Amino acid sequence: MHSITGIGVAKGIAIGETFLLQRGRIDVSISHIPQDQVFQEIERYRLAVESARAQLKTIKSKIPSDTRSDILAFIDTHLLMLDDAAFVAAPIELIAQNSYTAESALQVQRNALVKVFDEMEDPYLRTRKDDVDHVVNQIHKGLLNQAEDTQGNALEGKVILAQDLSPADTILMKHQGIAAFITEYGGPMSHTAILARSLGIPAIVGLHSATQLLGHGRQVIVDGGAGLVISDVDEQTLILYRQRIVDNLEQAKQLSKLIGKPAITRDGMQLSLMANIELPEDIATTRALQADGVGLYRTEFLYMNRDTPPDEDEHYEAYRSVVEGLNGIPVTIRTLDLGADKQVDGCLGNTPVCNPALGLRAIRLCIKEPRLFLPQLRAILRASAHGPVRIMVPMLSTLSEVAALKQHLEAAKLSLSQDGTPFDTNIQVGGMIDVPAAALSADRFANALDFLSIGTNDLIQYTLAIDRVDDEVNYLFDPLHPAILRLIKMVIDAGRHYNKPVSMCGEMAGDPSYIPLLLGMGLQEYSMQPGALLDAKRLLCELDAGKLSERTDRLFQHLHEADISERIAQICQEY
Ligand code: PEP
Ligand code: MG
Repeated sequence: MHSITGIGVAKGIAIGETFLLQRGRIDVSISHIPQDQVFQEIERYRLAVESARAQLKTIKSKIPSDTRSDILAFIDTHLLMLDDAAFVAAPIELIAQNSYTAESALQVQRNALVKVFDEMEDPYLRTRKDDVDHVVNQIHKGLLNQAEDTQGNALEGKVILAQDLSPADTILMKHQGIAAFITEYGGPMSHTAILARSLGIPAIVGLHSATQLLGHGRQVIVDGGAGLVISDVDEQTLILYRQRIVDNLEQAKQLSKLIGKPAITRDGMQLSLMANIELPEDIATTRALQADGVGLYRTEFLYMNRDTPPDEDEHYEAYRSVVEGLNGIPVTIRTLDLGADKQVDGCLGNTPVCNPALGLRAIRLCIKEPRLFLPQLRAILRASAHGPVRIMVPMLSTLSEVAALKQHLEAAKLSLSQDGTPFDTNIQVGGMIDVPAAALSADRFANALDFLSIGTNDLIQYTLAIDRVDDEVNYLFDPLHPAILRLIKMVIDAGRHYNKPVSMCGEMAGDPSYIPLLLGMGLQEYSMQPGALLDAKRLLCELDAGKLSERTDRLFQHLHEADISERIAQICQEY
C-alpha cells in the first residue's frame, strides 16, 4: 500500500480508478497511439480542423459590422491558415509516420513552425508566430471537445488525474460523473478548488508529479479532506474507507435536521447564513437547505465553455431563473469578475499580461468595456422585477470606480425606463471588499454603498502578496495573519459605524475553524458554498456571541505580540 499527500481542498472520500487526463499545462507531452488506430486518429484530427474552421466562421459572423477591418482580416488570416498544408497535411503525415496522437502531432508541427518564425530577421514576421499559436489552440480545442464527447461515460466514477484543471473543465467533468480529482498544481483558493467544494467533488491539488506517481487505471482511495491518496490498497483499508463513506452519509443526515431552523447563537443573536452560488444546479441545493439568501452569485460561469460572450437576454434568463427558483430570498448578483483565476477562453480576446491578478479585471474591465458591462447591468435590473436582487461589484479599490459604476447603472436604468421595462428602482448596490486599499478605506465605501461583503480569498491574496492559485506559496496563505484580522475588523466596524450590513463571502466564512473568531469580531452575515451551510449553523448555534466578543476584543489589544497566533488559535479551537 502506498500513500501520498497533496493539498486537500474539497472533503469527501472517493474510491475509484484513476483516469489520466492528457492535457499539458505548458506543453502537450508527446504520446503515441497503437498502429491500428492511426486511421481513426487522422480522422479525429481532420474533424478538429473542421470544428476550428466552423468556430472561426461563427465568431466572424457575430462581429458587428462597424468593427475595425484589421480584426476581420485577422480572422480571415486564421481561416486561410486552416486551409494550409502546414496545418492540415503536415500533422496528418506526422500521425501516419510516427503514430503520434493528434495532439502530439499538432504540438510537434507547432514547434517546427514557431522555430521557423523565431529565426526570421524581420520583427514583424517574427511576431506572426502568435497567429500560429492561435490556430493551434483553435484546433486543440476541437480535439478536446471531441475527447470530452467521445469520453462520454468513460469518466463516470473515475478519479481524474491532471496537471491542472480549469473551472470550466471541472464543471464539464462533474456532469460526466467523476468521483474525485487530483491535480499537480493549484491552491485551495483557486476557483477550481472552490468549485470542487461547491459541487461536492473530493479534490486534492498541488500534488506534484501525481500523474507520474499514480498513472492511468490504478485503483485509489482519495480522502479530499486530508489531501491523501492511497494506492495499491489492501482489503482492510478498503473496508475502513467504505465505512467512512457510510459514516459521512449518516453525519449529513443528522445535519439535515437543522434545515429550516434559524441560526441563533446561545445568547440569542440572530445570524444570517447565505449561499454562494454559481451554476444552475446550485439553485436546487440552496433551496433545499433553506439558506437565508444568496450572498454571492458568481456570474462568470456564463462565459465558460464557449467562444462568444453571452448577450443581455442570456444574462437575464440565467438571473431570472435563479431569482424565481429561489422563491423570494434575496439574491446578490456579482458583476463580472473576469480575469486572473477566472480567465475564460475565446470570449474576450484576452491578451497575455504579466500580472493578471493585478491587471485589467473585474470592475476595471467592466468600466473600460461598457459593451460588456451594460448588458449585464440591464439584465440584473430586469431580473430584479422578479424578486429581491442586489448588485455587488468586485475588486473595488477607489471611490471613482463606485462613481463610474453608478453612472453606468443610471444609464442602464434610464434605457430600461425608456423601453418601459420593469425593474426595482431602489435596487441595493454593494461592494466586495477584496483589495487591501478598499479594506483600509472601508469607511469611505460603507458611506458610498448600500452594503459591503468581505472577499477574503482575494483579500488574503493581495494583502499577503501570494498568488492564490500557486501551490508553491500556499504555505503563506493564512486567514489568521494579524494583518488580515485587522482588515476584516476595519470593514466590520465601518459597516457598524455607517449602519450598513457587512457580510463575508470568501471561503473563510464557511470554515468552522474561523467562525468563532469572526463571530467574536461582530460578523453577523456569512455566505458560503451551500454544502458548508449546515455545519456552520450547527457551530454558530453552539456559540456565545457576547463571550466571544469580549475575548476577541482582548485579543485585538495584543495583536502586536509575538505569540499572538497561539492565542488566536486558542479561540478558534476551543469550540
Ligand atoms: C473572494 O475573493 O473572497 C471571493 C469570494 O471571490 P472569488 O473567490 O470569486 O474571487
Ligand atoms: Mg474574489
